[in-house]
Amino acid sequence: MILADCHVHSCFSSDAETPVEQMIETAIAQGRKYFYLTDHHDFDYPVGEDGRDFQLPREDYTVRLEQLKNLYADKIELRIGVEMGLMAHISDKINEYVSGYPFDFIIGSSHLVHGQDPYYAEYYEGKTEKQAYEEYFLSILENAKALDCFHVYGHLDYVIRYGPNKDRFYNPMDYYDVFKELLTVLIDKGKGIEVNTGSLYKGFTYPHPHETVLKLYRQLGGEIVTIGSDAHVPQYLGYGFDAAEALLKRCGFHHYTLFKQGRPQQIAF
Ligand SMILES: [Zn+2]
Ligand SMILES: [Zn+2]
Repeated sequence: MILADCHVHSCFSSDAETPVEQMIETAIAQGRKYFYLTDHHDFDYPVGEDGRDFQLPREDYTVRLEQLKNLYADKIELRIGVEMGLMAHISDKINEYVSGYPFDFIIGSSHLVHGQDPYYAEYYEGKTEKQAYEEYFLSILENAKALDCFHVYGHLDYVIRYGPNKDRFYNPMDYYDVFKELLTVLIDKGKGIEVNTGSLYKGFTYPHPHETVLKLYRQLGGEIVTIGSDAHVPQYLGYGFDAAEALLKRCGFHHYTLFKQGRPQQIAF
């Protein structure tokens, strides 16, 4: 049993409606030892017709979670996280935001590429799919070089969820040089990556990132890997964790990682 799902959203995220308590109760029912909440904060998110702005009310969030931490203390240990949208050009703003609260765990993620969300078709206009994917990976490299405030980089190949052909023609080896440089930067900085099983309930056959990328991270000496479902509703909490464990073992990992007060703890499988 994986002790915690390290990537979970609640109604504190613009794209989720589930009360935090429902997520916590689900984790308790699953027998998890820890509960992580990692709601979204993406500065400068271009607000569309749906009105989603992805701005986390940090004060309300942390005050509420501190209350829930006490309330559930005898059933599960609550750890307070955030999924922070990383963008190199606003690194000062991002550093200031995360230093305003001692988060246990910070997932750095890329939801925007130079201000554009690859979720929308406009991102692919005037580019081949390969160019669009490469630009996404290169922007992660840029962010990883510019920022230090995160613990793991989330869903590294998230862009393949949204390309015109999704993962039909996706081969991580086509971006080998970018991945190698990116993973080397992350390892040199002591940063981890995550196995994100969210893709499994979105119609893909493997979690993010592709096995080739995970193997490369391991071969280059990477040891910090968290496991998260990216659940926005209770039924996806812990989704596909058996597959994630098997995948990590196949890639040569003997441990997965949990963070407490920003420090990694390695847990043997
Ligand atoms: Zn995300
Ligand atoms: Zn997420």
